[in-house]
Amino acid sequence: MNAVVYKGEKEVAVEEVDEPELQHPNDVVVDITTTCICGSDLHMYEGRTDAEPGIVFGHENMGIVEQVGDGVDTLSEGDRVVMPFNVACGFCENCEEGYTGFCTNVNPGFAGGAYGYVAMGPYQGGQAEKLRVPYADYNALKLPKGEEHEDAFSLLADIFPTGWHGTELANLQPGDSVAVFGAGPVGLMAAYSAKIKGASEIFVVDRVPSRLELAEEHCDAKTVNFEEGDPVEQIKDAHGGGVDKGVDAVGYQAIDDDKEGDGAYDPARENPAIVLNQLIQTVRPTGQIGVVGLYVPSDPGAPDEMAAQGRLGIDFGKLFEKGQKFGTGQCNVKDYNRELRDLIIEGRADPSWVVSHRVSLDEAPEMYQRFDDREEGVTKVLLEP
Ligand code: NAD
Ligand code: ZN
Repeated sequence: MNAVVYKGEKEVAVEEVDEPELQHPNDVVVDITTTCICGSDLHMYEGRTDAEPGIVFGHENMGIVEQVGDGVDTLSEGDRVVMPFNVACGFCENCEEGYTGFCTNVNPGFAGGAYGYVAMGPYQGGQAEKLRVPYADYNALKLPKGEEHEDAFSLLADIFPTGWHGTELANLQPGDSVAVFGAGPVGLMAAYSAKIKGASEIFVVDRVPSRLELAEEHCDAKTVNFEEGDPVEQIKDAHGGGVDKGVDAVGYQAIDDDKEGDGAYDPARENPAIVLNQLIQTVRPTGQIGVVGLYVPSDPGAPDEMAAQGRLGIDFGKLFEKGQKFGTGQCNVKDYNRELRDLIIEGRADPSWVVSHRVSLDEAPEMYQRFDDREEGVTKVLLEP
């Protein structure tokens, strides 16, 4: 079958790989109908991780159940399903409490598992014609049959729940004001979640005009272009003081705010924590900050650059002075996706506006490059194997 295979820095190819098979009675194999490219894939694509060439990408997958293991009780051939990007067992202490992003069984030695992702376990990705789903009763959410809401449902694998999670980690309440840093697909879903939850005022910070326009149009957000001045000052000027809550949907690959003054916006290699520090300044004392943008561990065994990425210069003193709280980590997708699915089915939410492209799997190499360039108008890209 065809799959999107990582070849090396800034290169993927669509190549023939072995078809997945049932390996355990609890597995199903799914025929993929839609699989999305994610900002998280770009960490590997850009060569910033130790992902080995040859791995099949793809952790945002939906499709039709094609083969069913003998031990699977709740799924049948022909069921339409979407898979949370987390692979989780369902019975460890974390899964039992809903923390499926931190399952302790599926990937020993690392907190949590995922499909097609470096360090996240031996699970092949779904940017391919087929996907093996382990612990399938637990890791597949059933969808109404047919083709309705295909775009919106595909976002249940990651970014809609992850955006929602950002607002949960920030303990966003109706009437709160909130600043969301990053208007990539995840930040846009955080801003949209804030709107659904009844936030009073939503600020969204980025520098890509088409992404900021989406935030304004679909999330009723006030937009802040960080290339036009310090985003902290811009938000405080507009709001009159600190906002109640904040969400980081950027992560360690944040682009700096031109400290060199040369007009060039370089990835903030020296201190990848710029967004965290800006949030500490933007949010009012005792406010809460949800961090869903990805940060990597400071691993002494990792290549120099990666090890340095983990050492963040967070202004902990300011955080302490203001008595703020941080919530962090992988989204526990399963914890939200039944409810978010039902909001879509009932017409109370439709996140499909974030999708800019639906293309065939063959176009993955070109779309990876355009999404990685944060090209104007390229927001969320769905692949159709
Ligand atoms: P993305 O990487 O395209 O989005 C990042 C956005 O941040 C871009 O639009 C970029 O222009 C903007 N940006 C860069 N520097 C900035 C700065 N200093 N201030 C404000 N905005 C800035 O793609 P995405 O899919 O939205 O992913 C965002 C992050 O979320 C990534 O780090 C990704 O790995 C992470 N993620 C985490 C989870 C989770 O479970 N926690 C799930 C999915 C994605
Ligand atoms: Zn993702």
